[in-house]
Amino acid sequence: MTAVPESVLTKYEPVIGLEVHAQLATKTKIFCGCPVEFGAAPNTNVCPVCLGLPGALPVLTRLSVELALGAGLALHCTINPFSRFARKNYFYPDLPKGYQISQYDQPLAEHGYLDILTEAGKKRIGVTRVHMEDDAGKSIHDGFRDSDKYTYVDLNRSGAPLIEIVSEPDMRTPDEAYAYMTEMKQVLQYLGVSDCDMEKGQLRCDANVSVRLRGAEKFGTKAEVKNLNSFRFLKLALEYEIERQVELIEGGGTVAQETRLFNPETGQTVSMRSKEHAHDYRYFPEPDLVPLRVSEHWLNDVRSKLPELPADRRERFVTQYGLREYDAQVLTLTRETGDYFEAAAKVSGDGRSTANWVVGDLMGMLKAAGKEINESPIEADRLGELVALINKGDLSGKLAKEILPKMFETGEAPAAIMEREGLKQISDTGALEKIVDEVLVGNPKQVEQYKSGKTTVIGFLVGQVMKASRGQANPAAVNEVLKGKLS
Ligand SMILES: [Zn+2]
Repeated sequence: MTAVPESVLTKYEPVIGLEVHAQLATKTKIFCGCPVEFGAAPNTNVCPVCLGLPGALPVLTRLSVELALGAGLALHCTINPFSRFARKNYFYPDLPKGYQISQYDQPLAEHGYLDILTEAGKKRIGVTRVHMEDDAGKSIHDGFRDSDKYTYVDLNRSGAPLIEIVSEPDMRTPDEAYAYMTEMKQVLQYLGVSDCDMEKGQLRCDANVSVRLRGAEKFGTKAEVKNLNSFRFLKLALEYEIERQVELIEGGGTVAQETRLFNPETGQTVSMRSKEHAHDYRYFPEPDLVPLRVSEHWLNDVRSKLPELPADRRERFVTQYGLREYDAQVLTLTRETGDYFEAAAKVSGDGRSTANWVVGDLMGMLKAAGKEINESPIEADRLGELVALINKGDLSGKLAKEILPKMFETGEAPAAIMEREGLKQISDTGALEKIVDEVLVGNPKQVEQYKSGKTTVIGFLVGQVMKASRGQANPAAVNEVLKGKLS
């Protein structure tokens, strides 16, 4: 991976804004009842509305509005009580109506923000607007015997519900853009607004990029880069584009305002067309849909159902459970992970240790098994019980580490495995004394050394007792008993 050279960045400042398209997690399309299904046979989930047949009328589905409202609220936007759909006219084979139904001058939500985590700390990125629109179909250029001659069109996706989230040009590095996308994905997933599966095209992103001399106030001419359908591509495309623009300017040229396409094969962006302007689309209000009114009552209802957002949860985990920032971050990556942790911590009564077990051992085992946390063979309660056993002194950390994989295998309670396999930690002084006596008899030299003042040798003796007890002795208790006997 080729990051932008430091020498370029000391002279030039990149300016980046992102347009994120997220497919709403509804079962049906936005203006008709056709199912939204990935991988269905081509052109099977279609009807006169989403085929754009003359005379067919769109009907806005309620759930898509509620999901879009949830996104607007979570992104701290002002929700417009009155918004309007507009036709965005352009010709493309996969757009049967000849226009996209979108929102233009009166979007659903505006003037919000999203806080991202950067190396330098928290940074606030402005969200210009969130609006609703329908998706186009898909042109298929390969996979058929005569694909060299023909392009096929699949309209299953035509009419799928989308929100477009437009950011302010507030990002200054590819890393910030990456962090913004990461946070955005997390927020949308937490809300259940979108599944954000990039491989299924549920989260797509275009980037507006320009560069300017550091200290300059005016923005440079921007290029729009399309087809950034993975986090890695976003970063690679931005890095390439920034360097390309700087080289152009340094060579005495100027950046053209244009739309460029990222080619994942070459890692380069190539010119696609000169940048279209809003007037090219001849926007006009959609005559087949009434304006969208969102009452205060409806909005409050949506607001009351919003879950805690990842950033809030992160902060709460730090203050409530005393977690390290890093652990809090990992544990809030998905809603499910955070839920799991909290359920386990409730049982153990010890957030910090529970976090260690989840972030370290459990996640490692899940990863190796190719499982998500909601598929964990160890239920949250059980993990909490394990931590509680350690804190009670019944298990040492080392024994617990032996038990955990067995729990993973069988799903059994830790106490059951501990009893059955005789792995309980020995803290009972009476039981320990016997082992300690044997060790002292077997190591007269070290006992002599200890008595003559070389007290550090006690570490060796503790080790011997641990070994003799097959790791089951409680080291702290062993220490006590040893000291008592040797004094
Ligand atoms: Zn349809």
